[in-house]
Amino acid sequence: MNLILMGAPGAGKGTQAVKISEKFNIPTISTGDTLRRAIADGTEMGLKAKSYMDEGKLVPDAVVIGIIKDYLATDACKNGFILDGFPRSLPQAEALDAMGGNIDAVVSIDVADDVIVERMSGRRVCACGASYHVRHNPPAVADVCDKCGSALYTRADDNAETVKNRLQTYHDLTEPIAEYYNAKGKLIRVDGQGAVEDITARVFAALESIEA
Ligand code: AMP
Repeated sequence: MNLILMGAPGAGKGTQAVKISEKFNIPTISTGDTLRRAIADGTEMGLKAKSYMDEGKLVPDAVVIGIIKDYLATDACKNGFILDGFPRSLPQAEALDAMGGNIDAVVSIDVADDVIVERMSGRRVCACGASYHVRHNPPAVADVCDKCGSALYTRADDNAETVKNRLQTYHDLTEPIAEYYNAKGKLIRVDGQGAVEDITARVFAALESIEA
């Protein structure tokens, strides 16, 4: 199964990617995580990406298309994959088609803007990819990852001003690709509000519909 998870920043793509990955035993690639690692490692790609990310803007298409192209060429994703945070623009969606991405479905996790802003302010993440919310999805021990025991932290771009820019970028550049996939009959919309387990149940139900 080759999947795209789409949704505004903070819609819960990362959380659902972990659940789908565990259930279907397919890997996730998150362009955001890859870019944050590149920044931490001080690579050329990280240096290029940082200023865009700090401002809540999209990193240039060529950079993220390169990440996905390299990844799809690896053995890790020969039985399927989940793309979390890619594509985020029409040129990226077209590039994915051109590289033979062969997407089965695009699950759009839909959340209202005011809910997004509230979620981002309480988001705490772990370097292992796990994501929590101080109220809605707290770890068993405050500020410690349930999965790997590392200390949780707040993402640099989860501050109010950057969140506003990221939402605007989403509406302007990313939302139009929903229609691109809808026209191909691949778009599945899921209500992304409410308890995490209810959202996961809706996502799994949606995936069963494409497996059948
Ligand atoms: P995320 O972790 O998916 O919310 O991504 C964090 C930031 O990384 C975004 O605000 C962008 O600056 C950058 N980024 C991640 N994925 C992409 C992409 N597909 N295209 C352009 N920029 C991206």
